[in-house]
Amino acid sequence: MTTLQVHQFPCLDDNYGYLVHDPASGLTATIDTPDVSAISNALKEKHWSLDFIFNTHHHDDHAGGNLELKEKTGCTIVGPRADADRIPGIDQQVGEGDSVMLGDWKFNVHDTPGHTRGHIVYHCANAGVGFVGDTLFALGCGRLFEGTPQQMWTSLEKILAWPDDTLIYCAHEYTQANARFALSVEPENEDLLIRSKAIDAARAKGLPTVPTTLSLEKKTNPFLRPTSLHLQQTIDRVGENSVDVFARTRELKDHF
Ligand SMILES: [Zn+2]
Repeated sequence: MTTLQVHQFPCLDDNYGYLVHDPASGLTATIDTPDVSAISNALKEKHWSLDFIFNTHHHDDHAGGNLELKEKTGCTIVGPRADADRIPGIDQQVGEGDSVMLGDWKFNVHDTPGHTRGHIVYHCANAGVGFVGDTLFALGCGRLFEGTPQQMWTSLEKILAWPDDTLIYCAHEYTQANARFALSVEPENEDLLIRSKAIDAARAKGLPTVPTTLSLEKKTNPFLRPTSLHLQQTIDRVGENSVDVFARTRELKDHF
């Protein structure tokens, strides 16, 4: 099997666009539609034509370019069943347990409500990649606009079940700001201290900090670490259950 190609490019202020391409079939998908001209330019640069849009959620910086791209390319739009009425031009509705194919590559779909009620993520186990939209970020997680901490924690647990070496493609470059918060709640986490320095160095050179890996997030992302005693002590939640520790961490970040 050839490799699955992921082409990453910046969009808008701090979004990332992703084109996913299967060389064997020649098929290409864009993960969300943050910026039609950036996506069109990327397609031109790679000499790829667009076959699919895989939407993660309804926000305008994720689905706002759907109709224009569909009009231009005739692509098929795949999106969350739970939010079908808010995904412009949706053709194929998917949810937990479903999968979508790009050539021979299978992307398993998981419902990850929390940031929005209908958020979904796409996991291609054979390629070792996950597209997580605004559910998980490098050192962060999405704001809870339409869900409860319990829902979001359950969503994050689905991602935590993926293999440790999974490359995590999130939708925004928020890592440097997230690192400042993470250090405030786990100031003595050695892995985090090292990572934070590497992030500052990368950003000083204008380099992306995405993708990340699940193993690195497990060691350093406070939203995935409710069982960390150090975190529990810092936020005054020693011995509380994961949902309550997660909820308090999210609340602190909202006011950071
Ligand atoms: Zn969003």
